[in-house]
Amino acid sequence: MELGLRGRVAVVTAASRGLGRATADALAAEGAHLVIAARGEEALAAATAQLREAGAEVVPVVADVTDPDVPGELVQAALEHFGRLDVVVANAGGPPPGRALEVDDERLRAALEANLLASVRLVRHAVPPMTEAGWGRICCVTSYTIVQPAPTLALSNTARTALWAWAKTAAQDLARSGSGITLNLACPGPHATDRMRELGATAGTPMGDPGDFGRIVTFLCSEPAAFVNGAALVIDGGSTLAL
Ligand code: NAD
Repeated sequence: MELGLRGRVAVVTAASRGLGRATADALAAEGAHLVIAARGEEALAAATAQLREAGAEVVPVVADVTDPDVPGELVQAALEHFGRLDVVVANAGGPPPGRALEVDDERLRAALEANLLASVRLVRHAVPPMTEAGWGRICCVTSYTIVQPAPTLALSNTARTALWAWAKTAAQDLARSGSGITLNLACPGPHATDRMRELGATAGTPMGDPGDFGRIVTFLCSEPAAFVNGAALVIDGGSTLAL
């Protein structure tokens, strides 16, 4: 299948490891060029070198996506270096575990910064140049917790359902205005990444392959996915018990 991504330009955040990195790899394999962001300089440099080996032009930006200035800077980096922006994959590290009645304001605010506001800000900055070009694909990486809240992940449940409500609303506006932009959510269940290891995944839990996750996000960001908009695709091997 031709995905129509050759020569297109993508911003991918939290892209040095895990699902963000796998998505950057999959986009590069389709011929896209990249602006990638993450906090750790060393891991970002390693990802940059490997993506360049795969043939992508890559602009690495050491950045924390919770800094309100960063989303605008990433969009600017794409426009300045490549003269265009076609795809945004908004990703960030997940919040720590915690039960609903135990999480305090400070931890809630931090989760909302990383898993709601950082994505909202990136979308807000990406939409004007994409609208001008008449084409754009935006995918926010969230979690299966938007359809099945996990009892010990209250911060994730809260921030991600807020993002889902915001994105669903924004996707309607993007469709009605004839912008040519789609906005979707990719919602992973357990995948074999550092995050999963940190959360102490139980032995024997079926895990998705991050590479497959990256290719699914890449499809959502492709030409043929033009009519997929305002969708939240749960990628969990069937483990979520929500209709
Ligand atoms: P990970 O911890 O393996 O990797 C996270 C990446 O994000 C790293 O590159 C890290 O440097 C970067 N990062 C973290 N916070 C950042 C910030 N503030 N600014 C810039 N970069 C930042 O995580 P993952 O497994 O790849 O998960 C990606 C997202 O998907 C997370 O939000 C996670 O909670 C969610 N998720 C993952 C799973 C899973 O099974 N892996 C399941 C459900 C949801």
